[in-house]
Amino acid sequence: MKYYILFGPPGAGKGTHAGAIAQKYNLKHISTGELLRAEIAAGTELGKQAKTLIDAGSLVPDSVVEGMIETAFDTIKGVDGFLLDGFPRNLSQAADLDKILEKRGESVTAVAGLMISDDMIRERIKGRAVIEGRADDASDETVNNRIKTYHAQTEPLIEYYKAAGKYWEVNVDGGEIAENRARVLALMDKIA
Ligand code: AMP
Repeated sequence: MKYYILFGPPGAGKGTHAGAIAQKYNLKHISTGELLRAEIAAGTELGKQAKTLIDAGSLVPDSVVEGMIETAFDTIKGVDGFLLDGFPRNLSQAADLDKILEKRGESVTAVAGLMISDDMIRERIKGRAVIEGRADDASDETVNNRIKTYHAQTEPLIEYYKAAGKYWEVNVDGGEIAENRARVLALMDKIA
């Protein structure tokens, strides 16, 4: 099985391009953010606890997202691999992912980073807020905290995966969706 990580700050376009990548390489796209929003929509206890943290722009506990990821690995069949989007989000999740995969005799295949500037993060999220209606996109304070959380906790993963020889990235700061999709798919062709 292949285990790809689609990496990048909020608003970089991970969700926008994941479907095309997953289809091309027969992967199951797993977005921890989407799974958490589904829990909130279903009104589960987990969803209620996660909502406060998500609305503040903070991360939910590692154990919550890792449980979701392991369940997905255990239950999803009929694909050549997984495309992880929004996970791992900090160094302890990355180390735990390595352990989870090691138990299965597997490892992370490659990390594809989608890079944009902080100004572009704000611009893209502002546009998306109108279209998708996500509460955590609508407030400037939440968006600023998500940018802070990204730099403090998630960005260090770049060095972690570079050290493992598994990190590649593409600049998607400007350009139209189609143009960026072509760039992202070209990167996947190189690393797949
Ligand atoms: P996303 O859709 O990836 O932007 O995620 C939306 C929100 O869900 C994030 O701001 C976090 O609060 C939470 N979240 C998603 N993935 C994770 C993760 N791997 N670890 C912790 N929190 C997460």
